[in-house]
Amino acid sequence: MNIVICGAGVIGGALAYELSSRGTDVTVIERWKVGGCASGKSGGFLARDWCDGTPVAPLAQRSFNLHEQWAEALGNPYGYRKVDTYSGAKSVRRSLGSRGQNDLAAWLADDVVHRQQLGTPSTTAQLDPEAFTKALVDGAVKNGAQLKFGAVSGLLQTDAGTDVQGVTLEDGTRIEGDAVVLALGPWSLLAAQWLPLPPIYGLKGHSVIFKPKVALPPETIFAEFEDTDGEHLAPEIVPRANGTLYVCGLSGDDALPVDPARVLPEDGGCERLRRVSMSLVPQLADADVIAEQACFRPVTADGMPIVGAIDGYDHAYVATGHSVWGMLNAPGTAEALADLILTGETKQVDLSPFSPSRLAALDPSQLELRAS
Ligand SMILES: Cc1cc2nc3c(=O)[nH]c(=O)nc-3n(C[C@H](O)[C@H](O)[C@H](O)COP(=O)(O)OP(=O)(O)OC[C@H]3O[C@@H](n4cnc5c(N)ncnc54)[C@H](O)[C@@H]3O)c2cc1C
Repeated sequence: MNIVICGAGVIGGALAYELSSRGTDVTVIERWKVGGCASGKSGGFLARDWCDGTPVAPLAQRSFNLHEQWAEALGNPYGYRKVDTYSGAKSVRRSLGSRGQNDLAAWLADDVVHRQQLGTPSTTAQLDPEAFTKALVDGAVKNGAQLKFGAVSGLLQTDAGTDVQGVTLEDGTRIEGDAVVLALGPWSLLAAQWLPLPPIYGLKGHSVIFKPKVALPPETIFAEFEDTDGEHLAPEIVPRANGTLYVCGLSGDDALPVDPARVLPEDGGCERLRRVSMSLVPQLADADVIAEQACFRPVTADGMPIVGAIDGYDHAYVATGHSVWGMLNAPGTAEALADLILTGETKQVDLSPFSPSRLAALDPSQLELRAS
């Protein structure tokens, strides 16, 4: 059995690793770079119980546990570690009260108040997302998977059209397979031309990576920041095991370009994020800035992933829409989808809440506008 996986983000990479670890032949097709999109530019923050109370909770809990096992199996070249997680708030316009006696996250600026513990090392962790995604694809390749570069532009289907037997690439190449999985992140939208898929929206976010002169502790901060113009931002501050510090929390307005290589920061976006970061973390004043970047996370109409077989078609699957929890939920998604593809049922996590058919399919005539 050969499974064709479209997209080498964290979801495609995790599925390739899982399937190939079980001895299944896999071909991964990537248009641009492994982990070049949201999967390489996200916070890489993981939480066991932050999805509790939603249908995603079992997937998140299972995935959180799998992360620990996968880090061991893969040799952890991606800085997976357990962390404390705190909140904090700052306004540059008004006093938010005094910091009080607590000394949580002592490396934040003195005027960051409302510090509370949101997670402990048994409930929160982090990793370098680009290194993680690359480790998954490298692991899959070591297991025998093939990685091919090219833009998926259509499906190979039987005359009746309902049995999917591979994909075609923009250059005309045909890649045959026994099943096809669309793991194209927000670009899964393009596949609504070929299959009945609900709309997938791409929400843009900016991020900056610093290299501070001093090492910061294994702690993650979810801050609230009121800027000079009164706008409220929610920066996520992640000091990483490799000594860098990642900050995100500023959205963007651009539409999703069809070519992932054309996703760029918007004017002033990263500058503002840099200024906000330095106001929250004084050690960043003399830090080097090693990346200023933007990416789109894939979101569905009800905010939940779509993972499973596509109704009315044979051998066609989709796995996307993980929104702000794609890094967290990749292992559980891969495990459950591999079960479904290989055995027809899932063992650990029930995928039925994520069925693609729970949402109305997109009218393909709207597609050009959305993807341009
Ligand atoms: C700023 C930000 C911070 C985040 N922080 C966190 C976090 O802390 N924790 C967490 O769990 N999640 C976080 N996320 C969410 C997470 O990054 C995403 O949910 C996840 O990366 C989505 O992975 P994916 O594989 O579905 O999509 P992508 O990473 O977008 O991968 C899709 C791949 O498909 C490729 N592709 C596109 N078109 C084609 C084509 N035609 N043919 C072949 N390949 C193609 C792309 O090049 C890309 O490599 C964050 C997201 C953002 C934007």
